[in-house]
Amino acid sequence: MRGLLVVVSGPSGAGKGTVCQALCRRLGNIHLSVSATTRPPRAGEEDGVHYFFVNNEKFQEMIAQDELLEWARVYRDYYGTPRGPVTRMLESGRDVILEIDVQGALQVKGKVPEAVLVFLRPPSMEELERRLRLRGTDSEERIAKRLEWARNELEAMAKYDYVVVNDRVEEAVVKVEAIIRAEKSRSSYLSGPRT
Ligand code: 5GP
Repeated sequence: MRGLLVVVSGPSGAGKGTVCQALCRRLGNIHLSVSATTRPPRAGEEDGVHYFFVNNEKFQEMIAQDELLEWARVYRDYYGTPRGPVTRMLESGRDVILEIDVQGALQVKGKVPEAVLVFLRPPSMEELERRLRLRGTDSEERIAKRLEWARNELEAMAKYDYVVVNDRVEEAVVKVEAIIRAEKSRSSYLSGPRT
């Protein structure tokens, strides 16, 4: 069987990264896609593990060569999903998770209609603000920007197939896992193209 393509989005501070990593540990046959970005690495981030860190010129070349399944500008930087590894994983029967922003998620849905879009939302804007401050990585100005961005992202929520409130990480992980299992039991999925 071809693998399932799962897209997870949500405002920064909603806990996407934690949920996706926990999900990969629970479900063996799933691959977390590594995006390309023009933003500089943060402390502890490794090239090829967290992101492929590229310069603007290289990113534009990837767009021109149609190497990206989707791409978007988020804040000041460009982010995109390299198409090759995603296609190979899906064809070999592995499920793939893309942890990407709303603009990218909607591009993926346009190109791969069978992709499953999951929106991970914080319990409230107040809680999101609290988590961003707790994280301690952002200046006040940056927090204000992220909150403004989060309000825009929440507006796109209705376009997703599923919405999961990330109140407690373990519960959110169990819910996303249930979504994946249910999607893989759909008759339309089971009768889909075989590789
Ligand atoms: P960060 O710089 O904090 O790692 O990520 C910033 C935002 O970019 C997050 O919302 C993240 O989901 C999004 N993002 C990461 N990789 C991609 C990608 O390949 N494509 C798109 N469209 N967004 C991405």
